[in-house]
Amino acid sequence: MSSGICIFKLLVTVNLLTFLECKPIDLSYVFDNETMYWGNNRRFNHPVVFDGPLKDGNETIVPYLSIYEYEAAEHGGTHMDAPIHFAHGKWTLDVIPIENFIGDAVVVNISIKASTNRSAQLTVQDLKDWESVYGAIPNDCIMFVFTGYGKYWLNNEKYFGTNTTNPSLYTFPGIHEDAARWLVQNRKIKGIGIDTPSIDYGKSRNYISHQILLGENIYALENVAYLDQLPATGYVVYCLPMKIGGGSGGPTRIIAMKKESGGTNDANVNSLQRFIVMLLTCYYIFF
Ligand SMILES: [Zn+2]
Repeated sequence: MSSGICIFKLLVTVNLLTFLECKPIDLSYVFDNETMYWGNNRRFNHPVVFDGPLKDGNETIVPYLSIYEYEAAEHGGTHMDAPIHFAHGKWTLDVIPIENFIGDAVVVNISIKASTNRSAQLTVQDLKDWESVYGAIPNDCIMFVFTGYGKYWLNNEKYFGTNTTNPSLYTFPGIHEDAARWLVQNRKIKGIGIDTPSIDYGKSRNYISHQILLGENIYALENVAYLDQLPATGYVVYCLPMKIGGGSGGPTRIIAMKKESGGTNDANVNSLQRFIVMLLTCYYIFF
């Protein structure tokens, strides 16, 4: 067999290995002109600067080129609240240590009570109930609160609880201040996320859970997408915000990857997949 074919087969195998290793879940919504923002915050705007062939006189230099500009408020769509958002002197978006963006994902499901109560909140009891099933909330994890309200994304009335842009009329689930206080006093999480517009429930006027959590340099993720796809444990999550200098928050790409059961933070391929890939590698190289 020529070395060229050998290298080709090796590349195919490496690609297959990559495919098997990476089954990421995308936990971010797309940013476009439908993206929902808090109150009257500036919406995402993405005007065309250039679209088409690049010409020098009548001569086409480049067959196709597209360039856009964008502008938006920090706090809209799937985004991160930097600790400074509610805590003077705490981290801005650009200085959060990057290791804090990666951690085991923990999902606490309050969707049953939230389905009949728009003002349902994550309580200390919910956290204790979770721990009675899954064990103690692990150190350095990133916790997600699944309310089920992600299914209302792009439906302003159902997602915010009002057709207006008046935050004083908002109703949606959130995190009770006692649960926020319990987390900072008893556990060590890197960040906390939710599938609603705010980690504080819609009726909050003082955003006390923001104050408590961000005051401990714990960042928040809001409008997290597709949390229904993320199991309670067993995934590693990567939360990568735009590196805005001095930012109080910004658009964030969040992906979750399955980790090997009992494994570490690495996104490992499981043993069976590893075995299959090894067999395929042998086949491709030697036959
Ligand atoms: Zn925010």
